[in-house]
Amino acid sequence: VKTYDLIIIGGGPIGMACAIAAQKKGLNYLILEKGALVNSLFNYPLYMTFFSTAERLEIGDIPFSCIAPKPGRQEALEYYRNIHKYFKLNINLFEQVSAVKKQPNGLFDVTTNKTAYSAKNVVIATGFYDIPVYLNVWGEDLPKVRHYYKEGHEFAFRKIIVVGANNSSVDAALECWRKGADVTMVIRKGEINDRVKYWVKPDVENRIAEGSIKAYFYSEITEIREDAVDILTPEGTITLENDFVLALTGYRPNLEFLQNSGIEISNEATRTPRYNPDTMESNVKGLYLAGVVCGGMETHKWFIENSRIHADMIINAIV
Ligand code: FAD
Repeated sequence: VKTYDLIIIGGGPIGMACAIAAQKKGLNYLILEKGALVNSLFNYPLYMTFFSTAERLEIGDIPFSCIAPKPGRQEALEYYRNIHKYFKLNINLFEQVSAVKKQPNGLFDVTTNKTAYSAKNVVIATGFYDIPVYLNVWGEDLPKVRHYYKEGHEFAFRKIIVVGANNSSVDAALECWRKGADVTMVIRKGEINDRVKYWVKPDVENRIAEGSIKAYFYSEITEIREDAVDILTPEGTITLENDFVLALTGYRPNLEFLQNSGIEISNEATRTPRYNPDTMESNVKGLYLAGVVCGGMETHKWFIENSRIHADMIINAIV
């Protein structure tokens, strides 16, 4: 088996940034990506707008030209595809890594659904978008319950419940309401989250205030059935007629995968993986973390603009 200087797991923006940095230093590297290029962005809602302006999503010093200040999903896909065309990154798409094991000789065995590789160093840049945070209520496995949202048309003229008060929930609630859905939000806390994009927050608050979108605060779903949903509110349990539930309650990184690779995870609620903040090297020598996966359950902590620097930190530590 050929031994790579570096294997990068995950072909998201940050995995790609690591590859560009490795290429510039002449390292022999390979990216393994389980889906399409920038698979998380590919799976975003179709009409989402980034909260970041275009220049903050740039990698490899290549300008991101965009008409509006903030790009949407489609423009970001164009940009990252062009990055790959320009740098001709060494990447295997649709190849999923199942295990990373350090051998006594110091090299890593990287096993995928297709084959196995050997590497001197490994970067895990697997993001957080593959595992939803579940409600854990009866009926959550019904086909009418969704943990990912694509577009509103399917929900037009239907009674839908959107769970959560963060960006994903708020964007979906507003879009579905504008496409003609009857929207009720079920929100665990007492307000719309402060992290909701500043230009969107007043829109949803005003729709709730005028009654166009109904909202139950301090409330949680307790059971989902084919045609109805039970909600525990401060006034007691109520039952609403319902066609679809959009449970957009967040996503979490695959911490089990990190643990199985030997990385220690903190016992606190944040479940932060252990790494050196100067080099991004984990407690396993030669095994690095990059991008949003570093935050553990604090998935809002890292994003493209503040984690793209991980690439140079890691490659400088390796060389
Ligand atoms: P990801 O982009 O998630 O890339 C990880 C990659 O690893 C994925 O392609 C995945 O398929 C792959 N992978 C996972 N497991 C394996 C495996 N076992 N084997 C092989 N491949 C694997 N950030 C911003 O900076 N600005 C924004 O405006 C912004 N808007 C967002 C909007 C939404 C709706 C969401 C969900 C997130 C948003 N984010 C935004 C956060 C954004 O997703 C991340 O900043 C960005 O995707 C992080 O890049 P990454 O490379 O760390 O992770």
